[in-house]
Amino acid sequence: MTDALTLFDDVLPPETPVANRLLQVRTVYAEPAAAASPRGRQVLARFPGAELVEVPSHWQIPDLHGNEGNVDRWVRVKTETLVLGVKKSLSARPNGRSANWIAPSTANGCAMACAYCYVPRQKGYANPITVFTNIDQITGYLRRHVARQGSKTEPDQCDPESWVYDLGENSDCSVDALVSDNVADLVATFRTLPTAKASFATKYVNRQLLELDPQGRTRLRFSLMPQSDATVLDVRTSKVGERIAAVDDFVAAGYEVHLNLSPVVLREGWEADWTALLQQLDDELSDDAKAQAAAEVIMLTHNEGLHEVNLGWHPQAEDLLWRPELQQPKVSQNGQVNVRYRNDVKRAGVDRLQQLIRQHAPWLHVRYAF
Ligand code: SF4
Repeated sequence: MTDALTLFDDVLPPETPVANRLLQVRTVYAEPAAAASPRGRQVLARFPGAELVEVPSHWQIPDLHGNEGNVDRWVRVKTETLVLGVKKSLSARPNGRSANWIAPSTANGCAMACAYCYVPRQKGYANPITVFTNIDQITGYLRRHVARQGSKTEPDQCDPESWVYDLGENSDCSVDALVSDNVADLVATFRTLPTAKASFATKYVNRQLLELDPQGRTRLRFSLMPQSDATVLDVRTSKVGERIAAVDDFVAAGYEVHLNLSPVVLREGWEADWTALLQQLDDELSDDAKAQAAAEVIMLTHNEGLHEVNLGWHPQAEDLLWRPELQQPKVSQNGQVNVRYRNDVKRAGVDRLQQLIRQHAPWLHVRYAF
C-alpha cells in the first residue's frame, strides 16, 4: 500500500482537493496503469489524503463485496472509496429510446443510493465509483463512431437532427465530474461534433458543469419526481427543488436541458403530487428553458433481488416500490427478471400523466413514455 501523494508528488498536476459530503475518499483501489496515467494522477491529486491500493484488475476487489444487508457499511464504502481502471473493450451499443447509442462508459458505480437504482452492482452492493482513465481512447473511439454514422437524415424520438449518445448508463455524470475531468473531456468532444449530441440523466446539481461551454451539443436530463417520493427513494441526491432551480442556469450555460420524469411511482395521491410538480415547473422555468424542453416518462421497474436487499435497510422504500397487486414479471434486455406495473395499470398511468402534462405544462413535449 502506498500513500497516493507520495507516490507521484513530483508529477502531480495542480488540482483543487474535492470537498463534498458525497466523497470523503480514504482509499483508491487502482490498476497500476490506471494510477500512473495522467487521468489517474488527476483523480489522486483531487483526493490527497487517500491511500492508494494497487489491484490487478478493477473487477477483482474482494473488500468491496459482501455488504448487501449493511447499509452503514455500503454508504461508507460509496463515500470513502474510489476505483481506477482501464476500460478494455470499447463499443457503442444501439439504444433507440432516449439515445441512439449508449457510449462506452467512462465511469461506473455511483456515490448516491437511490432505492430503485438499476445500475448493475458490479462491485458489491455499495458499487462505488470506478473511473476509467483511458479517456483519450474513449473520446477517440467516439469521434470515429460519430464520423461513420454521417448525418442523421430522419428525425426520431431521440433527436430531430443529431445522433444522440448516452454517456451515463452506469453512473451519474454530474458526480463523476467532481472526481475527474472525464465528463469535461466528453462535453468538449461533442462540442466539435456537429452531427452528434451527448446526453446524460442526473439527480445531482453540480454547478461546476456550468463552466464547460457545451454549445448546445450536450443534453442534460434532470430526473424529477415529487419530493415526497424522492425523500424516501432518492437517497443522497440533490433535492428536487434544487434540480428544478438549476434548469435555467444550465440552459443559459449552453446545455440542452430535458426532463427525465422517472421513475413514476403509482401510489395513493400520486396524481396530486405530480400535478404540483408540473405546476412548479410551469411557474419556475424561464421561457427559454420551456422552449427547448422535452421529457421522457418512465414508469417504475423493480426487481425481487433488490426488493429483498432493500427490506433489510429501507423498508419504507419498499412500501412504494413493491406492489405485487399492481405488478407483473418482465424479462429485461439483459435477461434479468424484473417486475413492472401490469399492462393495464401502466397504460392508465402513462395516459394520466400525459394528460396532466398537457393540462399543466403544455409546453413540455414528451419524447417517449413507457
Ligand atoms: S443517481 Fe442514478 S446511478 Fe446513482 S444511485 Fe441514483 S439511480 Fe443509481
